[in-house]
Amino acid sequence: MAILVTGGAGFIGSHTCVQLLNAGYEVIVLDNLSNASEKSLDRVRELTGKNLKFYKGDILDRDILNKVFETEDISSVIHFAGLKSVGESVKKPLEYYDNNITGTLTLVDVMRQHNVKNIIFSSSATVYGDPAEIPITEKCPKGQCTNPYGWTKSMLEQILTDIQHADNEWNVVLLRYFNPIGAHPSGRMGENPNGIPNNLMPYITQVAVGKLKELSIFGDDYDTTDGTGVRDYIHVMDLADGHVKALSKLAKGTGLSIYNLGTGTGYSVLDIVHNFERATGIKIPYKVAPRRAGDIAVCYSNADKAKKELGWEANYGILEMCRDSWNWQKSNPEGY
Ligand code: NAD
Ligand code: UDP
Repeated sequence: MAILVTGGAGFIGSHTCVQLLNAGYEVIVLDNLSNASEKSLDRVRELTGKNLKFYKGDILDRDILNKVFETEDISSVIHFAGLKSVGESVKKPLEYYDNNITGTLTLVDVMRQHNVKNIIFSSSATVYGDPAEIPITEKCPKGQCTNPYGWTKSMLEQILTDIQHADNEWNVVLLRYFNPIGAHPSGRMGENPNGIPNNLMPYITQVAVGKLKELSIFGDDYDTTDGTGVRDYIHVMDLADGHVKALSKLAKGTGLSIYNLGTGTGYSVLDIVHNFERATGIKIPYKVAPRRAGDIAVCYSNADKAKKELGWEANYGILEMCRDSWNWQKSNPEGY
């Protein structure tokens, strides 16, 4: 039996493929390469010494999905495929709703036809909106998203929940990621953003490597210890392991389960700059800029539920996250 990993050539997907293969799973990847390079999959093979099968294709394409499910013996799907740029989603809502929502509806419909009813879905802490409690437990009510990307995650959680309620043969695990950073410790795999990065860590590493002049810190007047925004950064290898743990749970028949994947610790933007400098010895020039629209002050998890029910917790600390992000960037300044 194999695991179908949609979006498996992307940042989180490729690291998860490494950990799945290391755990002995057979892995099939479906990715349209709209935001990834197939080279990431070569690196997965190189790092694990194992093979995985790759289908270049789109989750909107029913024919390729049928072909994959007819050809392969798939037991479960880990569904990463989706567009993820917050800013782009504001400009292109139709494309985002179509790709992420229609794509997922097509995927789960084909899964149902082939009687594969186990899915792990990549959700996000963004579904909590401006969170009603800190640290955020899974019981915290979902909130108002500030962009179409966030709404696709929130809506897809609801859609998958309704599907599971209607047919309890479905096992659905919704994983709400906090802020994934870091890279494979070998430096051979990492995040490969197109153009100027929107997220903090890839922006910092590109300043460090000399591609960008200085970091803009979006606001220093939040109600936090140093005025800058606080987030729960999590190493992508820990996140990958969370999927392996969630798969074991899925195999036992979970019904519907929701887990935060975070460390439970919040770091400010300035904390990240200082830790990056400590980890790498490189000074990061920065200026304070106005707040970014849609940003919240503080967002970090309570990750106890995943520890208790999945036996999962984050192991990498912030210095290791900074070290590995930098290690990837400096050895691959142009990405893959
Ligand atoms: P990524 O862009 O690196 O990976 C997504 C992959 O999906 C890419 O390889 C892309 O080519 C592929 N893809 C997109 N649309 C597709 C389609 N229609 N058909 C087939 N493949 C398609 O992003 P990532 O950071 O690895 O994120 C993976 C998932 O986790 C996404 O769903 C994302 O929304 C979610 N997520 C990411 C973060 C984050 O900060 N990185 C946080 C929370 C949730
Ligand atoms: N941030 C920043 N400068 C940047 C990018 C991000 O100051 O160039 C801040 C942002 O305001 C937030 C934190 O860094 O407080 C994390 O932002 P990111 O976009 O990485 O993740 P988010 O939590 O918004 O999904």
